[in-house]
Amino acid sequence: MLNNLIEANKCLICKNARCQKNCPIDTPIPQIISLYKEGKYEEAGKILFENNPLSSICAIVCPHENQCRGFCIKGIKGEPVHFHDIEYEISTKYLENVKLQKPKQNGVKVAIVGSGPAGITVALNLALRGYSVTIFEKNEKIGGVLNYGIPSFRLPRFNIDLLEKRLKELGVKIKINSLIGPVITLNKLLEDGYKSIFIGTGVWNPRRLDIKGETFGHVHYAIDYLKSPNRYDLGNKVIVIGAGNVAMDAARTAKHFGSNEVYVAYRRGFEDMTATKHEVSEAKEEGVLFDLFKSPVEIVDEGIILEDTKKVLNENGSYSLVSLTDSRKLYECDSILVAISQLPKNTIVINNKGLDVKNGGLLLTDEFGQTTREGIYACGDVTNGAKTVIQAVVDGKKVCESMDKYLKQFII
Ligand code: FAD
Repeated sequence: MLNNLIEANKCLICKNARCQKNCPIDTPIPQIISLYKEGKYEEAGKILFENNPLSSICAIVCPHENQCRGFCIKGIKGEPVHFHDIEYEISTKYLENVKLQKPKQNGVKVAIVGSGPAGITVALNLALRGYSVTIFEKNEKIGGVLNYGIPSFRLPRFNIDLLEKRLKELGVKIKINSLIGPVITLNKLLEDGYKSIFIGTGVWNPRRLDIKGETFGHVHYAIDYLKSPNRYDLGNKVIVIGAGNVAMDAARTAKHFGSNEVYVAYRRGFEDMTATKHEVSEAKEEGVLFDLFKSPVEIVDEGIILEDTKKVLNENGSYSLVSLTDSRKLYECDSILVAISQLPKNTIVINNKGLDVKNGGLLLTDEFGQTTREGIYACGDVTNGAKTVIQAVVDGKKVCESMDKYLKQFII
C-alpha cells in the first residue's frame, strides 16, 4: 500500500533501534522495514510469524504509543513511523497465504485449556514441534478476549479465523463448548493420555464495586456486556465506572449500539487512566463524555450517587485521593457498566487439587510457567492478572520451551 511505503521510507533503519528494544517481543523492526521496501513480503511475513504468531493482531491492539511508535527516533521532533500499519499489511497477507507444513508427529498428546492469545501461542508452537495438540475452549469460538472482549470495530474477526485455519492445518484439534473444571477435570485429561496440560483461561470474573445497589437490574459488568452487546438494552444514558481499556471499549460499544449519552466516571484524572491515550482519544472522538474526580457511593433505581474526589499532595511528595462527602449527588442514568478490572473464575481450580493460587485466585507458577502440579503449566492473564495480548504471547513462547523440555521424556 502506498501509505505504508511512505511510512517505510520515513524509517531511518537505526542500528540500535529503540522501537525494537521497546517491543516486548523484540520484533526486528528495521529488518522488516528493509525487506518491505525491497518487496520481500513473504520473507518479512515469515520472520514476523515465527517471532510472534499473533503479529497481525498485535499490529492492531498493542499499546503502540508505549512501545514501538512511542520510542521511534523520528517521533522526538516530528511524526514517528507507524510500523504497526506495515506489520499489519505484511502479517495479514502472510497468514492468508501461508500453507503450514504439518511436521512429523511424535505421538505425544498435549491438552490446551483456553484458546486466548496464550493458548493459541502454545498450541501453535507445540504443534509445529510435532506434538498432538487438542484445544479445549468453553466458548463456541476461539480467541478469548480477541473474540469476546475487544469490539469488532477495533479488531476485525477474520484475523482470528485465519489463525484457526492455520491451527487446523497443523492438525490441532479444537474442541469448542468444552468447559474444563467441574465435569471434565485435569485428572480426567491425564487419565486419557494427555502427557501435559497448559492452562490459559484468562480472567473472566468482574471485580465488584462493593457498594449498595450493585445487584439492581440496570447494573451490568462491562466484561459480560462486551461478550454480546447486541443482547442488551442499555437505554439512552449510560454511566461507565472505570478508566481502563475495558471501560473505553464498553463506553464506545454502548455508543455504537445506540446509547446517546455515554459517560465515563472516574475517581482520578486523565493522566492516571490505565487506558491508552489512543483509546481515550478515540472514545472522545466518538462522543463519549468524561466525569472526572468522581467516585461511586451508592446505586439507586434512578441512577448512581457519586461524590467528588480531590488529589492532595503529601509531605513526602506522593499524592492521596480524598473524598468530599458533602458533594454527593445523584447522577441519573438508564444503565451502569462496571469496568474496574477482572479476576479469574475458579472453575479450573475446583476439583483440581494441587493447583496453588496466589492473591485474587491467580494461578501460581514458577518463572517457566510450571504450576504446583507436575506437567501442568499456565500463563497469560490467569497467572498475571489482566495484562496485554503481547504479554500473553511472550509468556506463551517461554512456557512452550519448558513444556517441550518436560515432554521430551515421553517421545519414543
Ligand atoms: P483470554 O484472552 O482471556 O482467553 C482465555 C480463554 O480461556 C477464553 O477463550 C475462555 O473462554 C477460555 N476458558 C476460560 N476458562 C475455561 C475453562 N475452564 N475451560 C475451557 N476454556 C476456558 N490487550 C491488549 O494488548 N490490547 C488491547 O487493546 C486490549 N483490549 C482489551 C479489551 C478488553 C475488553 C479486555 C477484557 C482485555 C483487553 N486486553 C487488551 C487484554 C488482553 O486481551 C488479555 O491480556 C489477553 O487476551 C490475555 O490472554 P489469555 O490467553 O491469557 O486469556
